[in-house]
Amino acid sequence: MSDPSALRSEDFATPDGIEVLDQLCLTLLECLLIANDVQRDVGLNLDELISGLSAIQNTARSAFRAASLLNQRAELEVAWSDYFSRPKAIFARHHAAVRSGARMVRPREPAASLFDAELDDAMPIDDGPQVGTPRPACTSATKAKRACSNTAIYLGSGVFAQHCYSHLTAVERRRFDKHRDEIAALEDRLLEEGAQHIARAAELVRLEWQRKRQTDGTWIDTQAAWQRSGEFQ
Ligand SMILES: [Zn+2]
Repeated sequence: MSDPSALRSEDFATPDGIEVLDQLCLTLLECLLIANDVQRDVGLNLDELISGLSAIQNTARSAFRAASLLNQRAELEVAWSDYFSRPKAIFARHHAAVRSGARMVRPREPAASLFDAELDDAMPIDDGPQVGTPRPACTSATKAKRACSNTAIYLGSGVFAQHCYSHLTAVERRRFDKHRDEIAALEDRLLEEGAQHIARAAELVRLEWQRKRQTDGTWIDTQAAWQRSGEFQ
């Protein structure tokens, strides 16, 4: 069991420790995929289980990233106590060292993060220029003959209309409607593809888990445990 009072001789993380933490993150992702997927078979609201698993998954990934800093021998400010640092404290101690001139080391990502990255990077949506890029102003004038102060409408592919929404010409409005419909269709498709990606992964994990339960020599005898607890209908 964890011994929070363990005295810290030095900050360390072995390659074996990193590998097992990586597997822990992967197993938690598997748990989340299964907790979502099992609702097809079990008529229960599993919101609490899923949000708990999500929270603990974030904590585990944070531990992996902190351990990866230790393993890379990232410079750390002196610890505030003689006991093991929490992951957050490792990040803070490294940042403090960087502020004092140490080389910045990037924490590594656990393998499980690749799954989220694949979902996020599926396809960028063309919903306007990057934040911070200036947008052209509407070229129309208001009824008071002053220049309209609204920004021009984005039409996709890096092109802006000459006008804001209320001053769009009929041609611009058709183009804007077309762009908006295309974005909506793309978003629907990406959501659908994301759901399929998750469902495929959950199916693979489920098969793997079922196979593991049949395998001899697992660390706990699940067959005997089930026989003890009686039959399920
Ligand atoms: Zn305008």
